[in-house]
Amino acid sequence: MQDFEGKVAVITGAASGIGEALAQYASGIGMKLVLADLDLDRLDALRERLVAAGTETVSVVTDVADDTQVERLAQESLSAFGCVDLLFNNAGVLLTGPSWGCSLEDWQKVLGVNLWGVIHGIRRFVPLMLAQGTPAHIVNTASMAGLIAAPLNGPYTVSKQGVVALSETLHYELAAQQAPVKVSVVCPGPVATTIADSAQSHRSGKTDQERAFETMLRQGIAAGMSPDELAGQVFAAIREEQFWVLPHDAYREPLQRRTESLLTGRDPEFRWATF
Ligand code: NAD
Repeated sequence: MQDFEGKVAVITGAASGIGEALAQYASGIGMKLVLADLDLDRLDALRERLVAAGTETVSVVTDVADDTQVERLAQESLSAFGCVDLLFNNAGVLLTGPSWGCSLEDWQKVLGVNLWGVIHGIRRFVPLMLAQGTPAHIVNTASMAGLIAAPLNGPYTVSKQGVVALSETLHYELAAQQAPVKVSVVCPGPVATTIADSAQSHRSGKTDQERAFETMLRQGIAAGMSPDELAGQVFAAIREEQFWVLPHDAYREPLQRRTESLLTGRDPEFRWATF
């Protein structure tokens, strides 16, 4: 997509962090917006700010883990604006803990939002984009965790590797049809948002190792890239129709190391990236 003025963007997880920055950026280039999130108060506050800035904006309270609600989001987007040109499957939650120690509820929550949320988005929006027959773009927010696993981050890592796999699959499928619908997958390292507070597990008895991991993660996120800078990079990728969006160069070396481990058969080794 090259032309954004007057086009319609749907953004999930729009009320905070990266989603909010994407909404602000899209508003700045003249798009019409459909904001979706669970957090009604923040969603309404953002809609009011964007409307005051002259952006046609609707908000739809949506739990992306629920297919019926994502179907309603698609319908309400069409009723408001008649088409959808850009979809950001961005909503996500983060929760840490050992793979065997995370409760069934923890696993279901993270996979429900981060992976099923994207599956629902694709199932409900791709058919209507294909029917439109005009240039459209889907941006799935994965994470560097979608490419490199970390200890004590099982549900999140599994969900994001699923999002990367699904994005690649979708890219091949749409390209095979020569569809005007393009795909990008965003794999950031730390971005300065409040995601670390998004889904605390109520599990007690955390080990020192778990507490240390949480502290490293929180410090990394607090010192991360600004959501506004990331939004700028994401829109540049949409303009260029670029599939991979890897905004943190510091992960090139860990990615290379992981690929070498795959190709040589050496065991993988986890190290924190240094910025
Ligand atoms: P954030 O917590 O600031 O924003 C996430 C938004 O998603 C919140 O407004 C929240 O209310 C919403 N949300 C949560 N569950 C939802 C649901 N079931 N349905 C609809 N909305 C829901 O976090 P963020 O950092 O802006 O995260 C956005 C995306 O970026 C996520 O997918 C996250 O995994 C990914 N990401 C973040 C980082 C980072 O360091 N912040 C790094 C890599 C990837």
